[in-house]
Amino acid sequence: SLRRMNAIRSVSTDDNVMVAEAGAILANVHDAAEAAGRRFPLSLAAKGSATIGGLVSTNAGGTQVLRFGTMRSLVLGIEAVLPDGRLYEGLSALRKDNRGYDLRQLLCGAEGTLGIVTAASLRLVAAPGSRAVAWAGLASPEDALRLLRHLEGEVGESIESFELVPDDALALVLKHIPGARAPLAGRHRWNVLIEAVAPRGAAPASESLEAALAGAFEAGLAEDAVIAASEAQAEALWGLREHISEAERQEGAARVVAFGHLGDGNIHFNVQPPAASDGPAWLSEHGEAVTALVYDLVTAAGGSISAEHGIGQMKLAELERTASPVQLAAMRALKDALDPKGIMNPGKLLRSH
Ligand SMILES: Cc1cc2nc3c(=O)[nH]c(=O)nc-3n(C[C@H](O)[C@H](O)[C@H](O)COP(=O)(O)OP(=O)(O)OC[C@H]3O[C@@H](n4cnc5c(N)ncnc54)[C@H](O)[C@@H]3O)c2cc1C
Repeated sequence: SLRRMNAIRSVSTDDNVMVAEAGAILANVHDAAEAAGRRFPLSLAAKGSATIGGLVSTNAGGTQVLRFGTMRSLVLGIEAVLPDGRLYEGLSALRKDNRGYDLRQLLCGAEGTLGIVTAASLRLVAAPGSRAVAWAGLASPEDALRLLRHLEGEVGESIESFELVPDDALALVLKHIPGARAPLAGRHRWNVLIEAVAPRGAAPASESLEAALAGAFEAGLAEDAVIAASEAQAEALWGLREHISEAERQEGAARVVAFGHLGDGNIHFNVQPPAASDGPAWLSEHGEAVTALVYDLVTAAGGSISAEHGIGQMKLAELERTASPVQLAAMRALKDALDPKGIMNPGKLLRSH
């Protein structure tokens, strides 16, 4: 484990770059950026435990992918021990570097199969001046997408999060999570949680978001909406979104809940076993078939069987079944070239020889 290799080596506000060691915890990276008047714009529920090494190696996403991309677009440089024991010193955070293959991008999302990441140069951005969080009720996922495009047209890049929540999922949260309150007076088949930010010196984010949402009503894109009037209300709205998985677990009844990061095209699709069944037994009997069914649909639509969390061992067979043979062969060739003895995280992402 590299958890004790957790130093923030440097923060440069001139370059907007932080160099953090692999064991640095994401929440500490946020704090160090904030202390320098900057922001590291990647956040996820596991921020109190997720390390930079793990985030790089799983190419983690989080709630701001819509605006800032995944870890791949935030890692400007990497230091790593390669399988032959040599140190790759690639921390220079050049925005432009066309000297051949990009080892940094190869190591991002490699799940530790090509080397051990020891540190990364991370892109920082200006700290926001204000943020606004809104909840809107609407008729369909298609309307949600139209609403997103409308808001982007009105307030541009300030939209950072756009999360889809079906009424079923909201109902589960209201039923099971203590203190959860319905965000709107009525119920709507679909909902979206929207977060927008504004830079320092600009009008508050809530003003431009409110104006843009008013336009959306006129265009018939949203049925109702509310903008959080305080930080506590903003957190309460985010809480409704973040407790969906927990509420699903508590309900335990057979149902499909599809929700999540509509803005970046990543919908979580959770299928729960029937209430009366023995959960683990149901999963072992039907889990594979349900998963294969969903992955087939996703693949047919040109999607990915892993938008987050990677492949590991669990999705290995499904990767082999659904990925293009050309891609698999190229990955195998890279692995064999860099790690001919197969000593780096054997059996993850690619099978051991
Ligand atoms: C509650 C929760 C919410 C999450 N939400 C999101 C989300 O919204 N979006 C998203 O994309 N992901 C999400 N994740 C997944 C998350 O990205 C990863 O779990 C996390 O980033 C991994 O960090 P870790 O330090 O725990 O790594 P680990 O789980 O320890 O490792 C993950 C992988 O990286 C490899 N690895 C770890 N460190 C190194 C290193 N130094 N060098 C080489 N390989 C290494 C490991 O071998 C393993 O294959 C979530 C996870 C949890 C538990």
